[in-house]
Amino acid sequence: MSKNYIVGFPRIGEQRELKRVLEEFWAKKCSFDDVLETAHELKARHWEYQRDAGAGFISSNDFSLYDNMLDTSIMLDAIPKRFRHLKNEELYFAMARGNEECVAMEMTKWFNTNYHYIVPELSLEESYALNASKIIDEYREAKALGIQTKINIIGPITYLGLSKRVDRGDVYELWGKIIPLYEELLKVISTLDDEIVVQIDEPIFAKELEMKVLSLIKPTYDRLARVSPNIKIAVITYFEHSNEATKILVHTPIWAIGLDFLHGDENLKSLDIIAMSGKKLIAGVVDGRNIWRCNIEKTTHLLESISNFVSKERILISSSCSLLHVPFTLKYEEKMSGEIKEWLSFALEKLYEISLISKLFFDGEDSLDEREKEALSSNIKANQNRKNSFLIHDKTVQERVNKHTKLQREGDAKERLTLQKEILGYSDLVTTTIGSFPQTPQLRCARSDFKAALISKESYEAELKKYIDECVEFQEECGLEILVHGEPERNDMVEYFGEQLSGYGFSQNGWVQSYGSRCVKPPFIYGDISRPKPMTVEWIAYAQSKTKRIMKGMLTGPVTILNWSFVRDDMPRGEVSKQIAVALSDEIDDLQNAGIKIIQVDEAAFKEGYPLRSEKIKAYEAWATRDFKIAVSSAKKETQIHTHMCYSEFNDIINTIEDMDADVISIETARSGNELLKIFKKVGYTKEVGPGVYDIHSPRIPSVEEIVKQIELLLEVLPKEQLWINPDCGLKTRKWEEVKPSLQNMVEAVRIVRNKLNR
Ligand code: GLN
Ligand code: ZN
Repeated sequence: MSKNYIVGFPRIGEQRELKRVLEEFWAKKCSFDDVLETAHELKARHWEYQRDAGAGFISSNDFSLYDNMLDTSIMLDAIPKRFRHLKNEELYFAMARGNEECVAMEMTKWFNTNYHYIVPELSLEESYALNASKIIDEYREAKALGIQTKINIIGPITYLGLSKRVDRGDVYELWGKIIPLYEELLKVISTLDDEIVVQIDEPIFAKELEMKVLSLIKPTYDRLARVSPNIKIAVITYFEHSNEATKILVHTPIWAIGLDFLHGDENLKSLDIIAMSGKKLIAGVVDGRNIWRCNIEKTTHLLESISNFVSKERILISSSCSLLHVPFTLKYEEKMSGEIKEWLSFALEKLYEISLISKLFFDGEDSLDEREKEALSSNIKANQNRKNSFLIHDKTVQERVNKHTKLQREGDAKERLTLQKEILGYSDLVTTTIGSFPQTPQLRCARSDFKAALISKESYEAELKKYIDECVEFQEECGLEILVHGEPERNDMVEYFGEQLSGYGFSQNGWVQSYGSRCVKPPFIYGDISRPKPMTVEWIAYAQSKTKRIMKGMLTGPVTILNWSFVRDDMPRGEVSKQIAVALSDEIDDLQNAGIKIIQVDEAAFKEGYPLRSEKIKAYEAWATRDFKIAVSSAKKETQIHTHMCYSEFNDIINTIEDMDADVISIETARSGNELLKIFKKVGYTKEVGPGVYDIHSPRIPSVEEIVKQIELLLEVLPKEQLWINPDCGLKTRKWEEVKPSLQNMVEAVRIVRNKLNR
């Protein structure tokens, strides 16, 4: 059997077939059997792709109709009480998405990726039981097609670590309940075949773990690895090094350890103990998180240095993590420049890279056939071209960015805010929104017609202006004080800027699953970044010309642009973000020169860029804060800078937030009353804050009373002079029927509270 090991494969389908059929099923336009049929076709096709690319270890149970963590909850019968009356697909999708009676389970980000999993809800009093049918069925499904698979499961320590206890208390108290079910599962699996590999994913080992969690590793894997002699267990970690866990795992009877050598090169330090243990090493050397073509020469060197410790016959070659996190294939990219396309590799192409690397490494260059030789030389050529291409290197940008010394705007916050309040003249509890207004079907239609050249630029822009006119009119009527233009020209807050910056590339079909049926298509940064011309000034200035009130300009910040793109791997992330920051500082200057007095620089993804390991946090915070400050460094004292962050947990990062030095920050606290605002008071935050007063993620229209109450709660924490009143995020996913009454109620609530305060 070949030594090419595939940790996991995307499941959404190369044409997003799974997305389509799921959404049709949810809209009651097809039956569940249709869903299962598509799922079967996809699994079959994906297995074949992997086999044809020479993969030796192909997974079953990496497929899911929604999410693997959710599947694991079903497997353990960990079904929250509110769903217990439901069955089968109704149960499954209700847990994932909610239904009329039950709110969905919470969803959150999978480590530092943009994939979201369904958070298990556990409690000590519940009893759990094994339901292994999905796993068994999928194994048999593959086998019937002649494909021998390894079985992927999420490890018990990761599963527990990512759960929440509904009865409060420590999730790891449930260890004793869960482990016997995993043992039972392995027993069932052991009856399926003479010999079976079970891949147990424990990405939580890549984080710093408390002693009490580390101490569970040995008993867990002693027990699981002893269930049956015909099961070989491979414990896989990714996204960072897992040296602490490896030290323990080598003393358990598992068969193999899988490590990510790209995002956790410190794993190299574990090689000697792995070598001593005699275990197999699944070496993650092809990047499963990024889209660049592998540099085969470099990878071969890496493998050679690994084999100085662990002997070759014990090594398997794999991607650094599941290929779920990269798009499916380049084969539908028709519009991309040929030169750039040569530099890229998506999931399907990565399978062939793994194969080629493996052949080179184990059998040497002489063993390659003609096709493989050609693939190798094309790889070497593409990497050389990329290195030297003038598409990538822009001397002017590099010089400008290196010389950029303005790291901070003038004046301290107190001085600035006093000046700004004088000029802008807004009252306490001033009302605004976060930027976008509903993206209507009409707007989307106009945009796609424009992109398909079905309508002219003039008529597209006329459409956008009409939208802005209506937005301004509504906001004035509604009584909002600081206005926005509504962002009709933006399809996405990162893509819009990417499209206008040099150094950015786009795919047509580069979809990556974000959650359930939802996919994102991140743009990619391949070269030095510059701004050929202003990106937003025309729209914001147009909007400002339509009103006497203050129009807030709207930009996406450097760190968010970076974190929601695939980033070039030939330069440190902090350097790339600095280039974006310098480009944005020009935009801010242009905006203020065009008469815009308030500019919001969104950093929705600032927090998700945090490293998994604390020793790396300082470095991230340093460049991320630096680059936000560089972006706004051009703002004059009297230009008010806002930022917006899409979450509410600021306890760990409050000092960094202070350091970013925005005059006003809006955040997402609507769902938690005033709890999360308290940290701002605790640290003596003196700048202004707009804690969202209602949740825009739900179609519900908040009542006036409810918003009054929310504002009063906020006033318990911060004084009125420091508070802004706004929804908790942009409104683009909502409908006008929801947005209009909600904002009217918000303005009315502010009026009531102001009256009360003035009495
Ligand atoms: N200005 C953006 C909007 O309103 C912010 C979106 C976000 O934070 N995700 O849509
Ligand atoms: Zn937001």
